[in-house]
This record gives sequence, structure tokens and C-alpha cells, in this order.
Amino acid sequence: MRKNIVAGNWKMNKDTQSAKALVEELKNYLDANTTNCEVYIAPPALFTASAVEMAKGSKIEIYTQDVSEHQSGAYTGEISVDMIASVGANGAIIGHSERRQYHGETDSHCNRKVKAALDKGLTPIYCNGETLEQRKANQHLEVVKNQTETALFTLSAEEIKKVVIAYEPVWAIGTGETATPEQAQEIHAHIRGLIAAKYGKEVADEVSILYGGSVKPENAKEIFSQPDIDGGLIGGAALKVEDFSKIIEAFN
Ligand code: PEP
Repeated sequence: MRKNIVAGNWKMNKDTQSAKALVEELKNYLDANTTNCEVYIAPPALFTASAVEMAKGSKIEIYTQDVSEHQSGAYTGEISVDMIASVGANGAIIGHSERRQYHGETDSHCNRKVKAALDKGLTPIYCNGETLEQRKANQHLEVVKNQTETALFTLSAEEIKKVVIAYEPVWAIGTGETATPEQAQEIHAHIRGLIAAKYGKEVADEVSILYGGSVKPENAKEIFSQPDIDGGLIGGAALKVEDFSKIIEAFN
């Protein structure tokens, strides 16, 4: 079964006090309200362990914003799947466009990271999406096809069912510009169609595909109501419980 998911990517924001306060406030909100989606947050890696401790007993799942493709060793600054699992976190965002833009990540890296996460029993949230130039050149379907195939299509059917995909058009991330629900639906249906063609419809129907790119309380309901959109990966609006909770409520 596809899950409805609202996931927050905090990026490089908050310090130890304000991160704790945000988890606490979100936890209190979720304790007091009924929700119809899973709720994930990805604080900066330094706060992963304390977020896991604080989220215990709540429905919040904790993710990191990246993970190494390597198991251990001389990889300064990197975080391994073993480390993530050992603090009790649930998974990792992989291939965010900011990792691609500033750290040269490719879909081949993503492929190895996704596999490493799955092998450790962690959930990968694999991100893809086209740039503005690619959309203007009408290449968006082809770009997302190549990304999806390179990053995911070495997986088995059982493995790909455990992956969460986030379609995030680069031109809509942090820009205030959102894909229209129709533009997002077109790509989501395209991704699900690619998975169906490779693994069968039953498998494709189990994969949650999130939309990311300037999702806000005002547009969440319309975006999430599209047939192939199973929730959102939220950046800026995940930093305030007031906004994040309204996005969660789009599923009510
Ligand atoms: C993101 O970083 O994944 C994202 C979608 O950011 P924003 O919601 O701020 O556009």
C-alpha cells in the first residue's frame, strides 16, 4: 500500500536548542491531533540522535539529509548507514538537488547510497527532478526517466517497494515557485509508469512518490489530491510547526 507521507527537510538550519524546541513542538502537536499521514523529519545530522530520543513514543520518524555510499573508513565528514541505524533513525534523504548542485552527486552515487540504505534496513527517500533549463527545453520527462532508471532500476522488486521517491523540480525548490498540480501529476504518473513497466503495476502501486518544491499550507491540499502524489517533501515550511502542521492537515 502506498503511504501518505509529509516529510520535512530542515537543511542546514537550527542549533541544538532550537532543534529540540521544534521536535518538541511537533511532537506535542501530533500527540494532540489525529493525522492521516506519516510524518518524517530530517534535521541536520548532528541532531539525529537527540531527535530520535525525543521522538520516541510519537509517530515522528527521523531521517538524515544524506548518507555515505561507503560502509566505513577514511571518508571525512561522511555518515554511514551503520551510524544512522545505530542511533535508531529510520532512513536518509538521498540525491537532494542541493547535494547534486554543491557536492557533485550523480544518480550513480544515488544508486549506491540507496542500495546501502536498503541493505541496512533503512528507508531511502530518493530525490530527482529537472532544472529550469531542462523543463524549458521540454526534456523533463526524459531527464526524470534517466534519473529514475540509473538510481533505482538495479533494485529488486522487493527493494524498490521500500523506496520513497521525491520528485522535486529544481526550479521550484526554495524559490516560492511551485509546479502546478497538473505539472507535478504528469511527472508522478510518468515515474509510476516507468516502475510499472519494469516491475509490474502491483509494485508501482506500492511506491510512495512525494512532491517537493515550495509546498505551503495554501497549496498542499490541491497538490496532494492528485492521484499519483502521495505527499510532500517540505523544506522552508518544515521549520515552523504552524506551517508544517497545516501541510500535514491537508490529508485530513
Ligand atoms: C526541499 O528542500 O526539498 C524543498 C522542497 O524545499 P522548499 O519546500 O523550501 O522548496
